[in-house]
Amino acid sequence: MTTTREFRIAVFPGDGIGLEITGPCIAVIDRALERVGGLKLGYEHLPAGAGAYVELGTALPDSSVAAARAADAILLAAAGLPEIRYPDGTEIAPQIELRAILDLYAGIRPVRSIPGVPAPLADPLGSRLDFVIVRESTEGLFVSHRNGVVRDDREAEDRLLITRKGTERVVDAAMHIARTRKARGGRGHVTCVDKANVFASFAFFRKVFDERAAENADLTVDRIYVDASTLEFVGRPWRFDVIVTENMFGDILSDLGASLIGGMGFAPSADIGDDHAVFQPCHGTAPDIAGQGKANPTAMFLSGAMMLEWLAERHDEPRAEEAAALIRAAVDEAFAGGLRTWEIGGQSGVREVTEAVTSRLRTVAAA
Ligand code: ATP
Repeated sequence: MTTTREFRIAVFPGDGIGLEITGPCIAVIDRALERVGGLKLGYEHLPAGAGAYVELGTALPDSSVAAARAADAILLAAAGLPEIRYPDGTEIAPQIELRAILDLYAGIRPVRSIPGVPAPLADPLGSRLDFVIVRESTEGLFVSHRNGVVRDDREAEDRLLITRKGTERVVDAAMHIARTRKARGGRGHVTCVDKANVFASFAFFRKVFDERAAENADLTVDRIYVDASTLEFVGRPWRFDVIVTENMFGDILSDLGASLIGGMGFAPSADIGDDHAVFQPCHGTAPDIAGQGKANPTAMFLSGAMMLEWLAERHDEPRAEEAAALIRAAVDEAFAGGLRTWEIGGQSGVREVTEAVTSRLRTVAAA
């Protein structure tokens, strides 16, 4: 008799469109797992975000953190609302707190074109974009999150911190991703994005990058200043394979990357540490369209696929990898077949996209 293996997933639906895309994402994951067989996920829904802050007085209850720690992986939709803030005026962002609490140091932001989704750039080479931004997620300029100072309404100061440990581990994560991609036919190339010509902190980031590059001689590397990198993002983004960069630069470049593939509704992400990982779409709670059924759940589905891939690698579970490939292939086939969401000029929202993807999961072949 074959037994079904089960992983436990902590789920944070959050706020705004997060509440609308969570159920569909679980339905898509479950459909893919049914197709593969022998593997299932158990989900525990947990409060966090602006709604939790209003109802429970805390945006991230200790019980939610404890359940997230105990889970095999964490799936987060989107949290925070502009009109509900902490007394100091900052926005509620339990996803940023989770990065610090669970030491999720590598922010993985794939930039992968989906066939049929209109892209803003003309591509003279006809090549589909497929690169990954790895954003350091525990230090850099974000060490100042909720710690900045304003003095006498006269000046304000935030701090930027680069440590050897923080840089080594995120560079190693980027090298690992480049190596995995190389094994699947990728280029095995890592680009360091910094501002080493102006700041001591970034010169140090580059020095540590160079040291790690020397230890990973099977991969090729280059370095580029962040300002020049934006030219490349718009001019010839296909030159990238894996990018590694500081927290704030990664924050900005991820949005630029998302715009290259059709917008935030298509951009998945993962925040990974040594012991835990959170998977969530790059977008926020989109209060302007929340409650209207207009949200594009694709980024959430692709984040679910990233979660399955991470579980597969961590637990040596190829069935999870196969389910991830099925989700990606079903998304590609749905958009290649003419599916158009609201933000790209169509009329399909959560329900239509979910139906298009789940119906294809019955028949699609893993890419
Ligand atoms: P945050 O700071 O939490 O990232 P934000 O206000 O910068 O949030 P989003 O909530 O991501 O940004 O929304 C930015 C814009 O993108 C909004 O106009 C929103 O409607 C749109 N948007 C974001 N996500 C989606 C989605 N999944 N589907 C359709 N439109 C989206």
